[in-house]
Amino acid sequence: MRTLLPSFLSFFIGLFLVPSLHAEAPAVHAETVPAGPGKAEVISRLEAGNAAFVKGKAVKVDISAKHRTELAGGQHPWCTVLGCADSRVPPEVLFQTGTGDLFTVRVAGNVAEPSTIGSVEYASEHLGSQVVVVLGHESCGAVKAAQGAGSLGPNLDTLLGLIRPGIAGAADLDAAVRANINAQIAALRANSAILTELEHQGKVTLLGARYDLDTGKVEWVQN
Ligand SMILES: [Zn+2]
Repeated sequence: MRTLLPSFLSFFIGLFLVPSLHAEAPAVHAETVPAGPGKAEVISRLEAGNAAFVKGKAVKVDISAKHRTELAGGQHPWCTVLGCADSRVPPEVLFQTGTGDLFTVRVAGNVAEPSTIGSVEYASEHLGSQVVVVLGHESCGAVKAAQGAGSLGPNLDTLLGLIRPGIAGAADLDAAVRANINAQIAALRANSAILTELEHQGKVTLLGARYDLDTGKVEWVQN
């Protein structure tokens, strides 16, 4: 006790004396963020919305002024989607969701690079989103282009360079699409200490999904 008590006291006093030190610490979830629904509930909502979409039955989305003004006060999206920019693959339509539901990050080939990873981190750490879906799709043009070796200019080459390593050895385009989904999930983990820590704490789940252009169905991809 002779050694414990002083150290406890100095720690306790330190809490008040060095608040700036605490503010600068790279702590995950340093602020109070209301946690969104967990994995099971999010999967249930996404599957129900997609099932309605497949049937061509629109779910009634709240577009009232009341809902809009409520959201103006703050957002708590219940799922984050890192999806392809392809015009045929809009997450809000595929999952029949409304404003304030999905934190959607879209880029050709659904690639995880600093700006998209940062966006996913923001939703996970500051908005309470507990599930991240990396959404690829059938016949992805970006993945197909990455299967080729030619140059498409410096910007597209940079983008394709983020896809190529993950799809090496894929037997065909669809195998490459699936490999790219898993490669981008791996890239999220490898390049984000924040997401890795949140996943370790059970506060974030990373899921892969593939959208079928013909059937409209979104299937889960094992990662
Ligand atoms: Zn695509």
